[in-house]
Amino acid sequence: MDNLRFRALEMAMKRQCREVIFPDKKASEYFGELTFNKSAMREYLTEEAFQQVMNAIEQGEKINRRIADQVAAGLKAWAISKGATHYTHWFLPLTGSTAEKHDAFVDPIEGGQGIENFRGSELTQQEPDASSFPSGGIRSTFEARGYTAWDPTSPAFIMDKTLCIPTVFVSYTGEALDFKTPLLKALYAIDQAAVDVCKYFSKNVTKVFATLGAEQEYFLVDTALYMARHDLVLTGRTLFGHASAKDQQLEDHYFGTIPQRVMAFMQEFELEAHKLGIPVKTRHNEVAPNQFECAPVFEEVNLSVDHNQLLMHIMEKVAKRHDFTLLLHEKPYSGINGSGKHSNWSLMTDTRENILSPGKNPESNIRFLTFLVNILRAMQDHGDLLRAIVASAGNDYRLGGNEAPPAIFSVFIGNQLSGLLDLIAKSKKKVKLNTETDLDLLKNLPKIPEILLDNTDRNRTSPFAFTGNKFEFRAVGSSQSCAPAMIVLNLVVADRLTKFKDEVDKLIAKKIRKDDAIFQVLRRYIEESKNIRFEGNNYGKEWIEEAQKRGLTNHSTTPQALKALVSAKSLELFKVNNVLTEREMIARHEIRLENYSKKIQIESRVMGDLATNHIIPIAIKYQNTLIKNVVGLKGVLDLKTYGKLSQNQMETITEISEHVSKIKTFVNEMEEARKIANRVQEPEEKSFTYCDHVKPFFEKIRYHVDKLELLVDDELWPLPKYRELLFVK
Ligand code: ADP
Ligand code: MG
Repeated sequence: MDNLRFRALEMAMKRQCREVIFPDKKASEYFGELTFNKSAMREYLTEEAFQQVMNAIEQGEKINRRIADQVAAGLKAWAISKGATHYTHWFLPLTGSTAEKHDAFVDPIEGGQGIENFRGSELTQQEPDASSFPSGGIRSTFEARGYTAWDPTSPAFIMDKTLCIPTVFVSYTGEALDFKTPLLKALYAIDQAAVDVCKYFSKNVTKVFATLGAEQEYFLVDTALYMARHDLVLTGRTLFGHASAKDQQLEDHYFGTIPQRVMAFMQEFELEAHKLGIPVKTRHNEVAPNQFECAPVFEEVNLSVDHNQLLMHIMEKVAKRHDFTLLLHEKPYSGINGSGKHSNWSLMTDTRENILSPGKNPESNIRFLTFLVNILRAMQDHGDLLRAIVASAGNDYRLGGNEAPPAIFSVFIGNQLSGLLDLIAKSKKKVKLNTETDLDLLKNLPKIPEILLDNTDRNRTSPFAFTGNKFEFRAVGSSQSCAPAMIVLNLVVADRLTKFKDEVDKLIAKKIRKDDAIFQVLRRYIEESKNIRFEGNNYGKEWIEEAQKRGLTNHSTTPQALKALVSAKSLELFKVNNVLTEREMIARHEIRLENYSKKIQIESRVMGDLATNHIIPIAIKYQNTLIKNVVGLKGVLDLKTYGKLSQNQMETITEISEHVSKIKTFVNEMEEARKIANRVQEPEEKSFTYCDHVKPFFEKIRYHVDKLELLVDDELWPLPKYRELLFVK
């Protein structure tokens, strides 16, 4: 019997561990060698060009044409010295992945010869056809042309012998068609707003940049087994599969010994990442079998976002070399943990101080508290937008499934810090910031670091948790770019800080002392943001009820959650801060809705196909064997014994029939529901139709298929089973 599953299993079990070839130098010597980093720039750029690029990176200054030509010449020489033959603008279109279109450096010259060319204009701007990228309607009414423009703040790098130049991607009419454009704008907004607020406390701070460290979770599966699972290939997750007798219940995988073949894969992708200057640092087994995590050292957000995109790409590529397939889907397996991308976020001053790290003196502690309270206040206003920004078909199985974190957005800061805020809110005393003060409150402040260190009962269930010197936004999905989450997070905080400063300045104008003015506003913010603080168990039923009383939203599906993206409040927020126009927001909303509908449509089709063409025929085949057996027994046994013995088999035969019939009915009904959904034109209505009328069949069909998996002869079952997908390595 030529069963694809068994052929795949045989291949998977014969795998040898692939040897990793390490360079003959220390990691510090090859780290960043494939990026046009500071030392490469020093070597390959004129002093003038070097200075201009540094100014562009540090101060956001523009680079003129003449200098661009110089930079291009240096970049070309460097890239060719590293063996590059092609160059490309590398950007982040709204598909959520990366895009590139390669051009060769070499151009023909007379006499059948060639010469390498790369001009400043080719570095700074290109014109890829935008018509095949999602634009959410922006494209249809305007020209298809799009422009990519160089982002000097993220260094160029070489991958697969190609010089990649990070760029923004905008339409002919200037609308953003990518994630980087609004991200850079949001980062600009937080810089401006945070510096202004920092100036209340110290004149030294002239720039604030946001930082991000994205912990990347993922699954590995043997490629042969993966190929035998059409659902994994086409949808990224298993649509069927009965739970394995053992999976994560013994809790024996987390931080366990990393299997050899997996270790080789990790070493190789880390090596490639390090050459590209991606600071991957930590590796470990995750909770579920065959689930792992990789965490980098944090970096400035724009760079970190690019690095995470690149990292996902490298991991996919390297996994293949080791006969693994990387599963970045948020929920590849039902019933066991899904994957997220915990996004650790903070704010750093140009004086290298972490604003969210409580300091040693009252001044920096008050700055810390000011930012903390502003962040809470921002979350109170825009929690639903943070929920919306991570909504996707895949992430719905985490958020709103029975899994961390929940769909209700709340913030955890720990009981002690929470208590301190309540204390501040209640205190009506005047505040005097400098040295001698008799205020109890301020005597407490220098103790903050200790409080935090003692506070080790970190809440693992919160979607947005303060972890001592940074916030961890845990709702981001493992396959998602961090960019959208970072746009929103930085934007809402920037917006709040700006409002905060306005309010404080107004009080100061009324002759209220600065420190009192600050505390007056903070006290009010603490009161106003009470509802968003939650220290308890985010999985508990009580929380769902409590959250409802507090008026917090609990949207478990993407179409529902996405509404917040285009609420009047959100549109205003993006517009006022000059990050995205209403038109751009509506376009993005539409793209997300369409993406959702398409994902459900594809899953539904694959499910129907697998059930009808793979599962049912096998079930019937096995059933026929049973029937033949029962008929055969009749000839050899006396009637009494036969009656007794055949009963069990008859029961199985009936059970199979029942499951098959249920599957058929549901698949047909699902197809009808899909037809109706496909006729709906309006994107939001369509997504709701898919969500409410097509998706509910998934569980129903799956239930019966998974029952059949337990009944049908293992020899016949066509799809690799959970125990094989999860434990073969
Ligand atoms: P955890 O206990 O949550 O794993 P770690 O200290 O290991 O905490 O850090 C997890 C991630 O948080 C890492 O990617 C790390 O670089 C990042 N991180 C640490 N400090 C900051 C910061 N100030 N800003 C942003 N990310 C940070
Ligand atoms: Mg963490």
